[in-house]
Amino acid sequence: MEKMCLSCGAPLAQIGANVKNDTLCQYCGDENGNLVPKEAAIAGMAEWLKSWAPITEGVDFRERAISYMSAMPAWN
Ligand SMILES: [Zn+2]
Repeated sequence: MEKMCLSCGAPLAQIGANVKNDTLCQYCGDENGNLVPKEAAIAGMAEWLKSWAPITEGVDFRERAISYMSAMPAWN
């Protein structure tokens, strides 16, 4: 089974794992392999969701990011 980031659910093989912590992707871990602050992760996730969304008008991506992340093991 493909390894997923415990914070954002991204496939690590595709976007790259954190160099110090292979349960996190390169965006969700800092240089020491620790989880980034929650606010930073939410902001990053919101940007990511926005980049994939067919419609961005009137969508609260921050809210979506928070609800998406609440299902992720790293934030439970
Ligand atoms: Zn991640």
